[in-house]
Amino acid sequence: MTATQPLEVLIIGAGFAGIGAAIKLLEKGVTNFRVFDKAGGVGGTWWHNRYPGAACDVPSHFYCYSFEPNPDWSRLHAPQPEIQAYIERCAEKYAVMPHVELGKAITGLSWDVKRSLWSAAFADGDTAEARFVINGMGALHQPKIPQFRGADTFTGETMHTACWNPDFDPAGKRIAVIGSAASAIQAVPELARTAAMVHLFQRTPNYIAPRNDYAYSDEQRTQFRSDPDAMRAERERIFNEAETRLWSLIVDQASRDRTRELLKLYLGTQVRNRKYRAALTPGFDVGCKRLLFSDDFLASLNEDNVELVTEPISAFTGGGIVTADGAERPLDAIIYATGFDIESHQRSIDIRGENGLSLSDAWKDGARAYMSVLLPDFPNYFMATGPNSGVATTSVVFMIEQALDWIIRCIDRAGDNGVVTVTPEATARYNREVDERLARTVWVTGGCRSWYHSAEGRVETLFPGNANDYRGQMSKIEPDDVRIAAPAIAEMAGAGR
Ligand SMILES: Cc1cc2nc3c(=O)[nH]c(=O)nc-3n(C[C@H](O)[C@H](O)[C@H](O)COP(=O)(O)OP(=O)(O)OC[C@H]3O[C@@H](n4cnc5c(N)ncnc54)[C@H](O)[C@@H]3O)c2cc1C
Repeated sequence: MTATQPLEVLIIGAGFAGIGAAIKLLEKGVTNFRVFDKAGGVGGTWWHNRYPGAACDVPSHFYCYSFEPNPDWSRLHAPQPEIQAYIERCAEKYAVMPHVELGKAITGLSWDVKRSLWSAAFADGDTAEARFVINGMGALHQPKIPQFRGADTFTGETMHTACWNPDFDPAGKRIAVIGSAASAIQAVPELARTAAMVHLFQRTPNYIAPRNDYAYSDEQRTQFRSDPDAMRAERERIFNEAETRLWSLIVDQASRDRTRELLKLYLGTQVRNRKYRAALTPGFDVGCKRLLFSDDFLASLNEDNVELVTEPISAFTGGGIVTADGAERPLDAIIYATGFDIESHQRSIDIRGENGLSLSDAWKDGARAYMSVLLPDFPNYFMATGPNSGVATTSVVFMIEQALDWIIRCIDRAGDNGVVTVTPEATARYNREVDERLARTVWVTGGCRSWYHSAEGRVETLFPGNANDYRGQMSKIEPDDVRIAAPAIAEMAGAGR
């Protein structure tokens, strides 16, 4: 597809952000847009992450669009296939699918100042033009795979949790899981059900709290179907609980101290092996890294076929993994549960704004944006989950909706030919305030490094407030900061809405 007419809006990604943006554009009567995703289906995170046990850890009645509640969630925390099906259903119901093009990886974007248009290049050689770009490419996408000596010599199966081989059968296999964070704690108990042996290689322990998951009964689902207020109340309950309980961990030492004691007690009730309990006790403050939730991970470490390995990996061999103490564990499969490379994903599209400035150069001292959505020198370019957008205590879908509402309002105000820019001063001021507020959070004071931090140690992913703060921030567009002007050159290419 090399489009002849410019699009009004080009959307990158068909996850919650991209599909949500499309729905909101259609609501405004904008139909001249396309959603491009390099994947073979819609769903984003939930299309890519299909490992055993994959599920959300924010309760489902809140981990969904506010405008499309779902009475049929089977559990408090729905499994991946249900979330994937939900996003597909939304895309169908709101007539987004005719606008979606799959298998289309965007490799470059450049701003043509004369025509006030973005030109997009695709991996397959196609091109497209658009007035606006909404980047919904997510943050947790590019698998991070650590380099181990001899990794290419291992003859068994290897995969990252985000690239699961659906034909892989764990039954009777000797499996290594490398990494012990969010994906690993979901996958390990599931793999251990049938595997001969699961060796969990842990570098740093995490705080793990009970998830208190349960199935919704038929009666509850029927009630949600017949009484939307009951469903709204459930959503509200989840929102408020996260807002009060989790946010206090980020800013209140006494709350963290109490929680640390509770989590220590929980660990004690779940894990019999004393050495494991010591190895599972973090050396940083609660909340500094993402607090993890599981009802079955810690208990799975009591099983005879699950081993917690804390000795560092020294090399892979043809048939297994050798640790620093010289021990070799024979293996049939190695699973990387090692998370995502946020920084390189953010820079994976060659984006060039005004005067050919590349995003990589604009971000050479770290990724910063205005309100996480706009960048100086990159007119009409918006990010749904940009730098410092992550509200640690809430549903990412909630945040995405706030950001999209802000973005769509800007696009709406731009009318038929306006160009939306943000001043460098406003961006610098906004980020100074973000850094000042971050300095008072456990992410800065808690004594850890995590994917929340850039290589230089700045917290680049998280917003320094709770969900209500984020909603408040995104409720207004400051005209002194965000300029909507006529294009630099009058001859607009004239993309029709
Ligand atoms: C295993 C897992 C569990 C999670 N659980 C939760 C949870 O419980 N609660 C929560 O709030 N958040 C959770 N998250 C975070 C989750 O990523 C977000 O909630 C949300 O799904 C992000 O949606 P998105 O649309 O912004 O990005 P994504 O869902 O990541 O979608 C981005 C899409 O962009 C596409 N794309 C990327 N680059 C390109 C390109 N160059 N060209 C074309 N297409 C491209 C990708 O293929 C992808 O489909 C979880 C993440 C993971 C990995």
